[in-house]
Amino acid sequence: MSVTVVNPATEKAIAKLERDGVEETDAAVARAKAAFPGWRAVSPQDRARLLRRLATLVEEHGDELARIESQNVGKPISGAGGEVEMVAQVFHYYAGAVDKHLGETIPVAGGVDLTFREPLGVVGLIVPWNFPLNIASWKLGPALACGNTAVLKPAELTPLSALRLGELCVEAGIPEGVVNVVVGKGSTVGQRLVEHPDVAKIGFTGSTEVGREVMRGAAGTIKRVTLELGGKSANIVFADADLERAAASAPYAVFDNAGQDCCARSRILVERPVYERFLDLLVDATRRVKVGDPADAATEMGPLISAAHRETVASFVEGEPLFRGDVPEAKGFWFPCTIVEANPGDRVARDEVFGPVAAVIPFDDEAEAIGIANDSPYGLSGSIWTRDGARALRVARAVESGVLSVNSNSSVRAHTPFGGMKQSGFGRELGMHGLNGYSEVKNVFISTEA
Ligand code: NDP
Repeated sequence: MSVTVVNPATEKAIAKLERDGVEETDAAVARAKAAFPGWRAVSPQDRARLLRRLATLVEEHGDELARIESQNVGKPISGAGGEVEMVAQVFHYYAGAVDKHLGETIPVAGGVDLTFREPLGVVGLIVPWNFPLNIASWKLGPALACGNTAVLKPAELTPLSALRLGELCVEAGIPEGVVNVVVGKGSTVGQRLVEHPDVAKIGFTGSTEVGREVMRGAAGTIKRVTLELGGKSANIVFADADLERAAASAPYAVFDNAGQDCCARSRILVERPVYERFLDLLVDATRRVKVGDPADAATEMGPLISAAHRETVASFVEGEPLFRGDVPEAKGFWFPCTIVEANPGDRVARDEVFGPVAAVIPFDDEAEAIGIANDSPYGLSGSIWTRDGARALRVARAVESGVLSVNSNSSVRAHTPFGGMKQSGFGRELGMHGLNGYSEVKNVFISTEA
């Protein structure tokens, strides 16, 4: 059986690969298991040096990796370039973190108490198609820094950048077997990783529905899991905000990556006195989003990942929206930037669209804004726009989300923690917090009694 990889902007096949199954997954786990004792024994300084070399190789191959990602996901080349820069930053960061992931000494009677941060063993890393290389690095960086070996499963739609990253790992000098990439279906390769007795942990990013399956499957072997799942994040705009700035930035918080972003601020809540004014500014700003050929450096939004996904996205738009942008007439899974006015209970305002559709909702006061923002099973991301500092802090504390930004829509950085609350998952990636998901605390008491 083979996998045909398609460019979503042209609908043309760009690669044909062998499809791995259970047997190949088991072989990859066996390779990772065999490589584990050697990798955990590599000195911290050498492990850091190897990760640093990988980061440098990612930088040196930046254009190539961005091109692969752009062609495989349909994302604009400029955005893909920025994502590859972040991948390098992530490996640089975790290279620096290797010897700063410290244990403790704890005062005890009759001796000394020490903690160690032990690696888990073989970790299974399951990654979605929307940010394939980025999300792979968020898991691989801390996993390798802690001394684990890994089996990485990219989404079947977008395996090309993970395969190239696997080659770069070897080129960097990371021993064979430490990083293994398996290309196959979630329901076979993914599920086998989840159930495999020699896999100690699953780092998963994807839908809440599959996350639930992963958690259920992991129970059989009491595997550790980290789940980064869906979101329906609120962008809350108060009447005292810098409306021009908030409106200029809002389209990119929904339409970046064609809305296929778990952090998409796809519910825009606007305080009623400025609602009409904000809508005008938002429509103006959205009209300026450049949609087209992902290979063009000026393009800001490309197509959706597949025809099937386009159908799902289209099902969210009922009747005539407030605004619908233009798309190329050529082949490709295009979907226009779309703005709809919504009530908090509407499907478009409750479910994750994962496409370029923004739902705008008016609110009367701070309490109502918080109520609407929290009336969701999700709790991943969000923004608060106001000039009132006390309010910004009050609302930031009250909104049930793992990652928030004030007067900005940017909240993902290599060195700060990222992850969700509620059904957006648990565990944190990135920053020093990311190391906790790939290590376990061991406590050792040493008697000093004569
Ligand atoms: P899926 O949950 O369908 O897939 C994610 C990954 O899991 C893919 O590699 C997939 O493999 C694999 N998978 C599918 N079924 C199983 C299974 N039974 N056991 C183990 N692994 C499995 O999500 P999508 O790829 O469709 O991505 C879109 C969704 O992911 C959105 O809902 C989005 O919100 C969420 N997401 C969350 C992010 C976050 O950080 N919170 C970031 C990005 C996306 P394959 O596709 O090859 O079959």
